Amino acid sequence: MANDTPQPFVPPGTGWPGDPATAATPVAHSAAEVAALAASAGSLHELAARESVCRACPRLVRWREDVALTRRRSFQHETYWGRPIPGWGDDHAAILILGLAPAAHGGNRTGRVFTGDRSGDWLFASLWRCGLAVQPESVSADDGQRLIGTRTAAAVRCAPPDNKPEPAERDTCAPWLTAELREMSGDLRVVVCLGHFAWQALWPQLGVVGYSLPRPRPVFGHGAEVTVRAADGGDAPPTLTVLGCYHPSQQNTFTGRVTAAMLDNVFSRARELSG
Ligand code: SF4
Repeated sequence: MANDTPQPFVPPGTGWPGDPATAATPVAHSAAEVAALAASAGSLHELAARESVCRACPRLVRWREDVALTRRRSFQHETYWGRPIPGWGDDHAAILILGLAPAAHGGNRTGRVFTGDRSGDWLFASLWRCGLAVQPESVSADDGQRLIGTRTAAAVRCAPPDNKPEPAERDTCAPWLTAELREMSGDLRVVVCLGHFAWQALWPQLGVVGYSLPRPRPVFGHGAEVTVRAADGGDAPPTLTVLGCYHPSQQNTFTGRVTAAMLDNVFSRARELSG
């Protein structure tokens, strides 16, 4: 979004494309408030709205807003979103793609997960080739991109310094993910974890929403595939498959650790499993 006046964040409900929040959306200021607001959201839309105004992690709030004020030289003409990046995509998705955290000058700038950074370039191109996105590029919140049967989210919803959230920040943010899994549970069949951090963050939340977890915890790897079953008496769908995928970070794509074909293999498999 073009704007010459830097501001620390976009005020909710002021016309940013796809902004789920309004000035009346309740704001979490602590881990306890995250847990309470996540549990009571009642819909994916309200959940996204509440996520998008959260201020529960002081270090991350400071960082995301500092970045939004200073901006990268190549984006000096833009207004940065500067808020948490909520889950985004199809409201009836069978596939959830879970990443680590938004990029400081990617999602934290554009307001949409994976949008406007190099990882997103690789990710959305693969989703498009696999029939899970309507276009290969995702550059801004008003670019017309739409996901098909798929939703994306970050385990930690604010951009962290050096891409490294602290364990306490991951834990504070976890109820947003738990609530997202619950709200999606009628449709959800596959979770694709982009990288080891997302893989580790997912398993405890699957237990919370009612799946029996394998012991020991399955090892992350590209193409790892684990199907879990709902614990007796739980609300979760009977089975859910978790897929591992190397993160399409610049380091991984530059070094060839992950290639376009490798991403396509995982997302084709996700689509096949999603029915
Ligand atoms: S990381 Fe999560 S819990 Fe912490 S401020 Fe951001 S959205 Fe809130």
